[in-house]
Amino acid sequence: EIEIKIGLFGVGGVGKSTITTRFLKNIFIEDYDPTIDDIYIKKNDLNNKKIKFNILDTASQDSSYDPFPNYVRQTNIFVLIYSITDKHSFEVIKNFDKEIKYILDIEDKDYPKVLIGNKSDLTMKREISIEKGKELAKELNCKFIETSAKTGENINQIFYETILLEIEL
Ligand code: GDP
Ligand code: MG
Repeated sequence: EIEIKIGLFGVGGVGKSTITTRFLKNIFIEDYDPTIDDIYIKKNDLNNKKIKFNILDTASQDSSYDPFPNYVRQTNIFVLIYSITDKHSFEVIKNFDKEIKYILDIEDKDYPKVLIGNKSDLTMKREISIEKGKELAKELNCKFIETSAKTGENINQIFYETILLEIEL
């Protein structure tokens, strides 16, 4: 069995919880409590290999306790998520990258990650072009996918990319 510890990172509202439930249950959730974090398990068979997805759906907390370092330490494959409708969520991805490197203490080394531009169904509200996403992914040295947790577009693809990264490890 291959166990993949996936952490979903990104500011509140980008769709981390919605992506998780779409992948786990194939449903779309309109209102998910933004303060809840949890680990979800999904088992899959792929080419006769047993895959165990261990998905950490992170959340920002109101209290003084900062869970971020623990989230990072519990993660092997990092999924960095912004919303294509939210410029700010895109701009802070580089900060997430810096903080992750800082916590892993790998200032100039790389770590396994995928960049996701979510909410691709909201074309009228788009603030970040596909080209911008690709550029950032090139800078971060990782794969880039646009997804929609609403339509389900490319959601499974996120998790299959993590399998490929896990196999490389
Ligand atoms: P989180 O804070 O990152 O966990 O974000 P949520 O998963 O709670 O999502 C925030 C809001 O965006 C919710 O109202 C979701 O229904 C909505 N949402 C998430 N993904 C999508 C998407 O792909 N398309 C659309 N249209 N809405 C989405
Ligand atoms: Mg959430």
